[in-house]
Amino acid sequence: QTKENGGNNYTVFQPEMAEKQVLRFEIEHELQEAIETQAFDLYFQPKFHSFKRTITGAEVLLRWNHPERGFIPPNIFIPIAEESGLIVAIERSVIERVMACLAKWLEETNECTIPCISINVSVITFLQDDFSSFFRDRLNHYNLDGSLLELEITERVVMQNETKINSILQKLRKTGVKISIDDFGTGYSSLNYLDKLEVDILKIDQTFIQHIEYNQSIVATIQSLAENLKLHTIAEGVETEAQLQALQELGCTEVQGYLFSKPLPQPDFESAYIMHIPVDA
Ligand code: C2E
Ligand code: MG
Ligand code: MG
Ligand code: MG
Repeated sequence: QTKENGGNNYTVFQPEMAEKQVLRFEIEHELQEAIETQAFDLYFQPKFHSFKRTITGAEVLLRWNHPERGFIPPNIFIPIAEESGLIVAIERSVIERVMACLAKWLEETNECTIPCISINVSVITFLQDDFSSFFRDRLNHYNLDGSLLELEITERVVMQNETKINSILQKLRKTGVKISIDDFGTGYSSLNYLDKLEVDILKIDQTFIQHIEYNQSIVATIQSLAENLKLHTIAEGVETEAQLQALQELGCTEVQGYLFSKPLPQPDFESAYIMHIPVDA
């Protein structure tokens, strides 16, 4: 409460809102430019086996280093991209770039072990009528097997029309791509629904991992739910050895988080995790 507004919240709230609207509008416009100039960087956060501590895959996370505003986190620009519909172009370009990376890595490493790369896909992109054909077409273009990729969808996707979702999932899964439900446990997916859904992995949300000492029974419940439904689990946001140990005891065999690695810029990820075996001349 400032003196100037004389205790009237409305007058102080209004200009702030207007400012925010302008900012949103500007960012939306700049997002359009960012798409055209490929201003987004792909970061890769590896995933690990919780006992062996070996890499099992990696998740692609978008970074936008804005020329004037500096770093804008995805939690800010993704919702704006979703509201404006720009998310579809952004995510299709991410898919395309990741496939190009995979094709390059396969060539560079002489087809040695390449980690499976997961991509976050928003509900809007996922529900596009031609999404599965786009995905299949791009795989063919890069001559890739779908099993090198995973799509992370949120429970918001799962909450949509069951028949439609399952028909999209079935088409996608024919390519071999794996499907995971991101931030699992924070949405409202019904258990009945989950059983019918053709997904492979539950990503246990980091909020449960942060205070796993209080959430042990929740994580244990998700773990046994997954086992009963023949799904795999991965815990995200693992930061401490204590959290890792708790997860090991609960039978969660895959983890992701700062304890093992932060999201890395593409060159750093490549030099750390993609073997560079020279192709025979
Ligand atoms: P997410 O998919 O659940 O990704 C996990 C987020 O947790 C990432 O934040 C990651 O950097 C962060 N993280 C990883 N390990 C740890 C840890 O040990 N501790 C903590 N505190 N955080 C950790 P980031 O990169 O800021 O991304 C935030 C969200 O933005 C993502 O959540 C995802 O929902 C969204 N996002 C990022 N890129 C894309 C994209 O291409 N498409 C869509 N639809 N969403 C994206
Ligand atoms: Mg994710
Ligand atoms: Mg997540
Ligand atoms: Mg999350």
